[in-house]
Amino acid sequence: MHWNIAAECISLVYLLIIWFYSRKSSLVPSLKNRLFYFCFAATFCAIGFNILSTAMLSYPEHSINLLTWLVTTIYFIATPLMGMAYFFYTIATVFEGQGNALKIMKWTSIPGIFYLVLVLINPFCKELFHIDASGAYFQGPLIITTYLIFYIYCLAAITVAFVRRKQVDPIIRKILATFPIIAVLVIIVQQLYPTVILSGSAATCALLIIYLYLQNKQNSTDYLTGLPNRQEFLKMLELQTRKSRNFTLIVLSLRDFRRVNDTYGQHTGDRFLREIGNFLIKRAQPHCLYRYGGDEFALLCQGTSDQDIKKIVESLTARMQEPWSVDENSCVIPAAIGIVRYPQSAKVVEDLINGIEYAVAKAKDSKRAGAYYCGQEMLKAVRRRSQIITILEKNLEANTFSVFYQPIISNHTGQYVVAESLLRIPNSPLGPLYPNEFIPIAEDTGIIVDITYQVLQKTCRFINRISEVNPNFEGVHVNFSGHMFSQIDLADRVEGIITSSGTPFNKIKIEITESILLENTKCVSEFAERMQKKGVRMELDDFGTGYSNIVSVMTMPLDTVKLDKSLIWAAMNSKKSAMMVRSITRIFHEMGMQVLAEGVETEEQERFVSQCGIDLIQGFLFAKPMAEDEAFAWLRKL
Ligand code: C2E
Ligand code: MG
Ligand code: MG
Repeated sequence: MHWNIAAECISLVYLLIIWFYSRKSSLVPSLKNRLFYFCFAATFCAIGFNILSTAMLSYPEHSINLLTWLVTTIYFIATPLMGMAYFFYTIATVFEGQGNALKIMKWTSIPGIFYLVLVLINPFCKELFHIDASGAYFQGPLIITTYLIFYIYCLAAITVAFVRRKQVDPIIRKILATFPIIAVLVIIVQQLYPTVILSGSAATCALLIIYLYLQNKQNSTDYLTGLPNRQEFLKMLELQTRKSRNFTLIVLSLRDFRRVNDTYGQHTGDRFLREIGNFLIKRAQPHCLYRYGGDEFALLCQGTSDQDIKKIVESLTARMQEPWSVDENSCVIPAAIGIVRYPQSAKVVEDLINGIEYAVAKAKDSKRAGAYYCGQEMLKAVRRRSQIITILEKNLEANTFSVFYQPIISNHTGQYVVAESLLRIPNSPLGPLYPNEFIPIAEDTGIIVDITYQVLQKTCRFINRISEVNPNFEGVHVNFSGHMFSQIDLADRVEGIITSSGTPFNKIKIEITESILLENTKCVSEFAERMQKKGVRMELDDFGTGYSNIVSVMTMPLDTVKLDKSLIWAAMNSKKSAMMVRSITRIFHEMGMQVLAEGVETEEQERFVSQCGIDLIQGFLFAKPMAEDEAFAWLRKL
């Protein structure tokens, strides 16, 4: 018989091209990607041994009979193996991340194993093929099995891709579905024209694998830097933790990259990013580098010593202080570096990601160049923080925050004329939570704004309740965070809440701190003026703790200044501090403001603040913050 192997040789060239390209990529060694290489290898084997076997059978006078047997046998194994490899690749793609892919492969490899046994015993039973002493080739009665096995696996691949189509990315789905169909068609043609060997099928396999490969690469690569993307990074992290391999994760985050884009334009900004990426690839070797975010790169170092990590971080830090150049543009792009280690910092991917984000945020906060390591203890704090955020969100949604009230006594009448509303979370999965811990978190996340509206609403109801029984009650002080002043509709919302509650405006006093006043002078002053017109009063809280700008204090329509407890306590030990408290009280009085002293815990402190002529006293000596009913019982007294 005269065989035509030209197409087969072309297929081999195609495969060499794929091999050339695949060498360039750094695919994560996940099951799916390993099976992709398996597909490649099986196709390569099938084509290679097909060409060899055909050549040997065509020229028996130049071949050794035993070798022709061996080569042809390998070809008989490799051809159905292509179908099997493809089927396994489909399984790995469809069941990616589900953990049952290996089990499915184990069971579905049974037909392949039976066929393998058949190939191995073929030299004795000659059921598949036979080569006689003269080198002539004869098909055996079971030759169809070779194609049948290939068909079965291809059919199984189509079925799986079809049944599980919803779980698969649409493009991958198309490839999965079309490849086996084309391959089966090609083999049918080959059966009809036996002299043209499986070449067409092999070539199609090769072509489609190229497509599959490129697709795979496209899905896993960041187009700008050519680095594996965040998804690939997460998969790699998953793989590393599953295999319990020690590694260190370094994330380099560019500070204020927006400035670079704004200054040089998006296009040049991209080129700066590419420059940095190129440097990092070189510096990262032999470790893997990923584009973690828009202006963030992740370096995954496996099994590296502390010393090596230190060296890497030092060299990164040093380079990031030097300028980068793109054409005639040159600029320094400072970076913050976060580090976590597996398993020292955390043992699961989610915690590692939380840890690295925290480390990067801390490094960014610290302003100076250098790296920030997030250890186990810190991670505990991160976890607690995210638990607190959940608690805050739940309480906000259910409107279940507790508002406690601390009665404040008038130094002139000896009566509890006002109170301060103070947030509490007495019951939470973490036990009771105190404002010193959860208020900063509520501020960072912006949740504080809606919480404050709820507190104001509850406070208004509380004022109404007391006012019914105690007409002398002058009202409640409500704490406002700086975040409130970034709300354009703040004044409308506040007015709306007070009006709808039917509470007199003059029974609400809003406490703001010095830092709020300094950071938002214009907004605060506009808000204060509008509130003043309505009758709502403003108070400066924690006076003496910050960097008071006396001009702001003087120009703001403030009703009361609350001297911080540290000021009162210091006055007990130092004559100078005592003199200062006395003087500032006098000054504020002269400016027409009331003065309130907080943190009064002892009789000595009480005597002192009374002598200073302070108007209102808040402190544990008189009353602690208490739940609504208790505060009501306390304040209802005339
Ligand atoms: P702040 O506004 O300065 O509130 C006064 C804090 O001093 C309260 O602590 C109060 O319990 C405490 N205090 C009162 N008398 C004494 C005393 O004699 N000795 C001592 N050592 N402490 C005393 P609390 O309730 O833990 O609140 C802490 C801070 O949390 C508040 O400081 C305030 O800045 C913030 N905060 C509380 N509730 C709210 C709220 O509803 N909204 C906002 N934005 N912040 C709140
Ligand atoms: Mg306060
Ligand atoms: Mg205070």
